[in-house]
Amino acid sequence: MKKILILTAGFGDGHTAAARNIRDAIEILDEDARTEVLDLFAGSDGAFNTLVGKTALGVVHYAQTIWGGSMLPVENQFGSFARLQLALEKILDENQPDCVVSTHPVYGHAIQKIYRDSERPFRLLTVITASAQASPVWFRAPSDLFFVANDEVAGVLQVGGVTLNKIKNFGFPVSPAFADKHPELPAPVGNEPRRVLYLVNTGRKKAVKAIDRLLQVDGVQVTVVAGRDPELRAKLIESTADVSTRVRILGWTNQMPELFYSHHIVVSRAGDVIVPEAMAARCPMIVLQREASTDDDSAALINKYECGTVVERKREIAEAVELAFDKRASVWSDWRKALKKISRPDAALRIAEVVLAEAVNDRPARRNVKLFEPAADRLMRTPKLVNGGAHRPEMLLCDFHIHSNYSDGQLSVPELIDFYGERGFDCICITDHLADPKRLIGKVSELTNLTLAREQIGEYFEVIERERQRAWRRYQMLVMTGIEFNKDGYTSKTSAHLLGIDLKSPIDAGLDIPELIEEIHKQGALAVASHPHVMKSEWGRNTLYLWENQEKYAPLLDAWEIANRNNIFNDIGLKRLPFLANSDFHKPKHIYSWKTLIHCEKNYEAIKECVRRNEHVAITLYRDFPGQTKKSARHHFAAPAALEKVAETVVLQSA
Ligand code: ZN
Ligand code: ZN
Repeated sequence: MKKILILTAGFGDGHTAAARNIRDAIEILDEDARTEVLDLFAGSDGAFNTLVGKTALGVVHYAQTIWGGSMLPVENQFGSFARLQLALEKILDENQPDCVVSTHPVYGHAIQKIYRDSERPFRLLTVITASAQASPVWFRAPSDLFFVANDEVAGVLQVGGVTLNKIKNFGFPVSPAFADKHPELPAPVGNEPRRVLYLVNTGRKKAVKAIDRLLQVDGVQVTVVAGRDPELRAKLIESTADVSTRVRILGWTNQMPELFYSHHIVVSRAGDVIVPEAMAARCPMIVLQREASTDDDSAALINKYECGTVVERKREIAEAVELAFDKRASVWSDWRKALKKISRPDAALRIAEVVLAEAVNDRPARRNVKLFEPAADRLMRTPKLVNGGAHRPEMLLCDFHIHSNYSDGQLSVPELIDFYGERGFDCICITDHLADPKRLIGKVSELTNLTLAREQIGEYFEVIERERQRAWRRYQMLVMTGIEFNKDGYTSKTSAHLLGIDLKSPIDAGLDIPELIEEIHKQGALAVASHPHVMKSEWGRNTLYLWENQEKYAPLLDAWEIANRNNIFNDIGLKRLPFLANSDFHKPKHIYSWKTLIHCEKNYEAIKECVRRNEHVAITLYRDFPGQTKKSARHHFAAPAALEKVAETVVLQSA
């Protein structure tokens, strides 16, 4: 078993995206390898930056003063460098990785200090995420190999004295999904649509205008990714209503590789992740870059490689698109040709190959392998899912009511999987809101992006299906697809939220509740009343319809939420209705809430059967302090107190 530790820091997207993509690639190539991504600046919550969140700007600013090419000794400027070094030393000593991959320069310097007087007991590989102007701070500390994104960076290293055999130029590690086979989109001829992908990353107001102008160009079809901005999405849907056949408005999406490959041009602000992704997918770019802006040199690459164009103002976008497709798309075809020469969609996989080859374990096994042990322990403990019935039941920690950013949750589906997986959950169900299109309030809330967009339901099911496999491989956690059907009326008594748990395919949210329950049951899924009683101190309206009509609905429903987040509904208990307890998770702090424990075999059918019969079901108030639950050992892998203190100190100092 190879043990690989990937170190990252959430300053800017580049470092963390590189770390996660390399981890995914390693898992594709070697199922037995144990890979962990650790961000020492993110606190004990893993990569979610809940600690850093509020002061993110302060931290970024702080980091840039340190790493902005300065030649002063690192420790003189970095107040908590000594603490970081201590924490890292402890982690390395306890976990004994075979190979350490670093995607941020701070770690190379810390490792150099830790092993000043002795031989470093692992291979150290550095992934330089800079687009062109790699600061010398990246390579002033030793590393066995340096992975670089392009010739520019390779040149900087050579000039800086790094020997050629240590430089691997594989390209920026974009997601391995870019290396999947995708049909090549040919140049548009005649009346064929010119497909433009528009990523809104700044200036919402001007974006609406720019898209409007873009739609005036002949033959242009636009897909807009509005991201995590519900108001913008609502505004765009409204402003493009009369040309709705030529425009598609998406919220946040997990399908970036598919989108890049299926569009002729992408319009976006420059960025350390976006530019390499577009290059990987051979999708020419129109990049927005203010003249004075020096924070990002990825735009310079577009000009250098002549694979798109850089514009300074949003109103120039439409002209640039027109020009690209003029004269039988000759400019566009030149861009595409240039991209074919530099596109490297398999960079993460190639880096992963080298990492696995370098991670040779030629040292005797040591005690204390906390970081990697839990997964191995889980593998041995988890019964196989074949021959159901032959295995002993166990206590399963479950949460059946979780929102992702496909509706109004904060985390993406992959982030949710890691968040719950790292906390040792056995079974979760993701249940984004879907509004009844016939109800007025439903229409309003869909416009504001609080609910799953109908055109993204297929994607929602696909993404959860893909993550289900990863969740099992990595955490032995079962993942169900669900929907929370919002049936909102004008009053509490006419409003109901209904959970469909473990759905196989989408269901029309416009059906009446009894039909809806019937459709849910046809798929072998559970129909559960969500927060059915009066809730205290919640922002939303109460949803009492099912409770008020329990004579009709109790025989139809499989269970009722007896607890929802911090609310507990005594009346459900008094009526002896079958019960569940769920987080109604929208953001990380919601994890500290009521959950369901089910004592049965770890498989989907056994769990659902327990809920239906209301047998072996218990509720628990989740806290992740050591010693509190049987899962505690797994909640707390590799988070020595020193590590938490480092994160806190960094945040406090920068605030
Ligand atoms: Zn709800
Ligand atoms: Zn909910």
